[in-house]
This record gives sequence, structure tokens and C-alpha cells, in this order.
Amino acid sequence: MRWLCDYSCRDDYTLLAKDTSAWAGLFYFASRRGIGASYQSVVTWPDGNGTLVRHFAKGAKIETGVVVTKVDPDGTLVAIGKDGPFGVKAQHVVLAVPGFVADRLVPDRPRTALDYGAWAVANLHLHARPSERMGAPTAWDSVIRNSPSLGYVSATHQRGRDHGPTVWTWFYPFTGPGDVARKQVIGASYEDWAEVVLRDLEVAHPNLRSLVDRIEVAFWGHGMIRPKPGALFDPNRIARLQPRGKIHFAHTDLSGVALFEEAFDHGLRAAREITVT
Ligand SMILES: Cc1cc2nc3c(=O)[nH]c(=O)nc-3n(C[C@H](O)[C@H](O)[C@H](O)COP(=O)(O)OP(=O)(O)OC[C@H]3O[C@@H](n4cnc5c(N)ncnc54)[C@H](O)[C@@H]3O)c2cc1C
Repeated sequence: MRWLCDYSCRDDYTLLAKDTSAWAGLFYFASRRGIGASYQSVVTWPDGNGTLVRHFAKGAKIETGVVVTKVDPDGTLVAIGKDGPFGVKAQHVVLAVPGFVADRLVPDRPRTALDYGAWAVANLHLHARPSERMGAPTAWDSVIRNSPSLGYVSATHQRGRDHGPTVWTWFYPFTGPGDVARKQVIGASYEDWAEVVLRDLEVAHPNLRSLVDRIEVAFWGHGMIRPKPGALFDPNRIARLQPRGKIHFAHTDLSGVALFEEAFDHGLRAAREITVT
């Protein structure tokens, strides 16, 4: 039971159970199957969120490669793009950036203690799949019991093919202090981490190395906001939802947990705020 609680908190919160808000810990188990909710247990693609981004971007005018450096409540934005800095005067702004970025762009907001967990994520491109012991069918999510990683998911699982080339995505949450983890990943070499990934997975798949064509490793220094005890009940967390002039705030960080459904919810709320003004 303790192992499952720790695994779940590492998976969703980048924390061990002992460091997690009790409310968030219960939410993990209580929120998964709502009465009457349609339940989809597997949503995965080889290029991760890229599939979702392309879907939402269809027909929209989007400018990429732009960093916003300042947002004023009167709708004035300063940004830096490929051709240098420029300004925009907007009718409405939905600021859907992580909390620690929003605090820099709009300095005088109510503050909360924001704690972020770092992640290492690797994609392994395999030209063939390892043979499963006892002929078990390939799972979409595989966990190595005593590993600090979360194991891996088969990103091609929903294609329904259980043989041939595949992509595995391996996840490693840094459950300790965020600043220590960020220093660790800044100094990390690609080769070292590729080796960490292979050694971790070789426990379950001894012949894996010969099947891997390529490994990509990405580090997320501020990957997930972490719901430590008390964080979700800070009154300033709610105060931070309030619009400031023409600025409306979205982003999953406003919920104090890193989940897509929270991100969608805040995006919809911000859009509704605009349509009623
Ligand atoms: C390793 C990992 C695994 C995860 N797995 C899951 C999962 O299985 N299920 C789940 O529900 N959630 C998962 N999450 C959490 C999920 O990714 C987030 O909840 C979700 O991405 C939040 O969406 P968002 O739109 O609120 O913010 P973000 O995805 O953080 O988007 C914010 C955007 O703002 C941009 N931005 C930041 N600063 C600026 C600036 N100054 N100017 C312009 N643009 C800026 C960023 O580039 C980014 O595109 C995972 C997170 C990690 C790190």
C-alpha cells in the first residue's frame, strides 16, 4: 500500500507520499472514475503533446518563437521575437504561463509559495521489441518495482500493433528539493542520462541495448507544481485567479496540481470571463 501511494504521488505530483498534501493524495484516487463520467484510461502518442497541439492549432493564427517579457493590466504587452522586441496593444490577454513566470510578468499579484519538481523524460526508438517473458502481451505502461524511475509507456500502444518498431517514453521524477534537482540536471550530460535510462530498463529487458536505435533525453527543471501540505488551502491561491484589468489568468498551476483537466478548466474560465465583460 505504501509503495502504491508513493508511486502515485511520484507519478502525479513529483513527491513522495509523506511530502504530499493529504487532500491531493486522496484526490488522486478519488477523482479517477466519476459517476457517469466516460472513462478513457489510455491517451498516448509517439510525439506526446505534439498531437494535441496540432489539433488545437488547426485554423488558428499562432505566432511561435516569441517570449513575452511584460504585461500591463491595460493590455500592453512587450515581447521578443525572431526580429527583436515589439509591443502589442491587446483588447484582452489570457496569460496561461506557469505561476513563476506570471509573477515576473505581472509583479504585484498576490503571492503563494510555488514549489516545482524537476523531471527527466527519455524517448527510446526501438527497431524491434524485446521478447516478453512467459509470452505476456506488451503492456502500455510498465513499472519496475524498486526503481526510482516510473518505468515507461509504449507510445505506440494505441496503434494496436504488438510487434515491429516502437517508441518507449521513460519518466524520472526528482522527488527531492527542486533547486538541488535543477542543479543536477543543468550539469547532466546526454551520454550519462542515456546510460541511466538503459541500465534502469535492462533490469526488466536484458537485451534492450541491442534494440535501441536512438535515445532522446529532455529535462524539465520546473516540470510540475507540487501540492505540498497546506499549499492548496492558501487563500492567495484563489486570489490569484482574479483578473487584473485586461489580464485573465489561466494555467494548471492555479490549481496547485499539474493536470491537463485543470489547465483546460482554467482556460475555459478565462474565456468565459472575457465573454461576459
Ligand atoms: C513529465 C511530465 C508528465 C506529465 N504527465 C501528465 C499526464 O500524464 N497527465 C496530465 O494530465 N498531466 C501531465 N503532466 C502535466 C501537464 O503537462 C500540465 O498540466 C499541462 O501541460 C499544463 O498545461 P498548461 O497549458 O496549463 O501549461 P503549459 O503546458 O506549462 O504551457 C505554458 C506555455 O507557456 C509558454 N510560456 C512560458 N513562458 C512564456 C513567456 N514568457 N512568453 C511566451 N510563452 C511562454 C510555454 O512555452 C508553454 O508553451 C505532465 C507534466 C510533466 C512535466
